[in-house]
Amino acid sequence: MIDINNVSKWFGAFQVLRECSTRVEKGAVTVICGPSGSGKSTLIKTVNGLEPFQQGDIIVDGTSVGAQATDLPALRARLGMVFQNFELFPHLSVRQNLTLAQIKVLGRGEEEASARGLLYLDRVGLLAQQDKFPAQLSGGQQQRVAIARALAMDPIAMLFDEPTSALDPEMINEVLEVMVGLAQDGMTMMVVTHEMGFARKVAQRVVFMDQGAILEDVPTEEFFQAPRTERARDFLARII
Ligand code: ADP
Ligand code: MG
Repeated sequence: MIDINNVSKWFGAFQVLRECSTRVEKGAVTVICGPSGSGKSTLIKTVNGLEPFQQGDIIVDGTSVGAQATDLPALRARLGMVFQNFELFPHLSVRQNLTLAQIKVLGRGEEEASARGLLYLDRVGLLAQQDKFPAQLSGGQQQRVAIARALAMDPIAMLFDEPTSALDPEMINEVLEVMVGLAQDGMTMMVVTHEMGFARKVAQRVVFMDQGAILEDVPTEEFFQAPRTERARDFLARII
């Protein structure tokens, strides 16, 4: 579903990604971890074309992300992305947040968009909050709305960039539970997170990055039980 081949990227003279390669099969979950500044956000953003790259290639469901002819907005519409800071539209109600892109990007009618949005809002346990505004919700609730909003677009895969790291500890689990449910339903997911309990529960593979390079790309249990590199061992020792 997602095939990253030898991707390198520079910000000016600074090389932020170094020949990164990994793939996520349809229905699989990959967790990406590594120290702050190692390039995790940049890598995940290259997948939906939010960050251009200078070398290598990324194929998403048969479409080359880097090719000139590729319609990036169309590709982005097929990939759900959830960020650390929720990024809901503050001036729109929860229901309007859920329907806007369905109407504007997918051309759905108001009624269909609303039905679809509320279906996913129910799924994240927030149907009763549909008329509230984002500021009236807790961080955990806002992030669940953001996930529902992405799902309402019928994505072929979901990209998560540290979806729980801006949350108070008591709200982390409610978001992780939604993500575990998604994974168990067979959603293809790339998840940047340091929630290693989540990784062990649902990820088939763990990718460990350091200084722009993928140092490990291994089955989840192997990463925890026998990390191959010194840097991954140090990293695990610090976060677990
Ligand atoms: P991570 O998500 O692993 O913390 P990032 O992908 O955000 O890492 O950043 C990787 C490196 O690239 C960091 O050194 C960061 O300072 C740098 N970086 C990120 N975005 C930019 C940018 N727009 N311009 C220049 N440097 C950037
Ligand atoms: Mg980041």
